[in-house]
Amino acid sequence: MPEVLRNGAAALFGSIRRRARTLVGAAAIGAGALAFSSCSVSSVLTPTVDVGAQTSSISQPRGLARLAPLSAMTAAYPRLSTPRASPGAAMPASEVECRRQLRRMGATYQDLAPINQGGSCRIDHPVQVSRLSGNIQMKPAATLSCDMALAFASWTKKELAPAARWRYLSGVKTIHQGSSYSCRNIAGSGGVASEHSKGNALDVMRIELKNGSDIDVRKPGWFSFRQRSLLNNVRTGGCEYFSTVLGPGYNAAHADHFHFDIKNRRNGYVACK
Ligand SMILES: [Zn+2]
Repeated sequence: MPEVLRNGAAALFGSIRRRARTLVGAAAIGAGALAFSSCSVSSVLTPTVDVGAQTSSISQPRGLARLAPLSAMTAAYPRLSTPRASPGAAMPASEVECRRQLRRMGATYQDLAPINQGGSCRIDHPVQVSRLSGNIQMKPAATLSCDMALAFASWTKKELAPAARWRYLSGVKTIHQGSSYSCRNIAGSGGVASEHSKGNALDVMRIELKNGSDIDVRKPGWFSFRQRSLLNNVRTGGCEYFSTVLGPGYNAAHADHFHFDIKNRRNGYVACK
């Protein structure tokens, strides 16, 4: 390398080294200042107050903490809305047929990834139902086995919607559900798995009509004549679609909601109370 170039290169590298030293010094001062509030490397590199997209004052988990649940609630009830990678892959014919009928009943649903939380808490081919026939919304979207989703979609279309039209001269706008899939035992049963843990049950808290009426199981007004007659409709009609329909008046655990399930009883016994 010619002398001139070598000198030039030396000068250039010297300049880079000096700048690098300055930067390292500045970084050391900055890191030293931040070290008072934190001792993790990622915290040093990430400002504590996020000035970007996240404007929440709640601190976001960093590094491995992101993998841990945010709260005990999240730990007990994991996010279940992960769409299935390839719906229909290796799905039994009965499940495929169920989906065909579910679509025919006018339901809007999404296939979810298999759920298996151990014990009886399991749905091999779950669906998430967000809408039923007649543009009736399901809020929040319900995670169910396809058989249960189909039973509920059929009952809504053939029993609930006509009953509401007959008694209230109105269509149904929204069904507010309180529990669909849920890994738990029957309250007070001493450890018997709930049909909710198989995705075979749904709890209805409130039915909102298009004319503004609100059939709220939890409100005292529920026992007005018209509401009571709809309630009777809900029960008797429901028994053709479900094997269990429990509502207010059955026991304290069902004072504020209707419980529907398709529990498979060997003797074909149907519980409608
Ligand atoms: Zn229930």
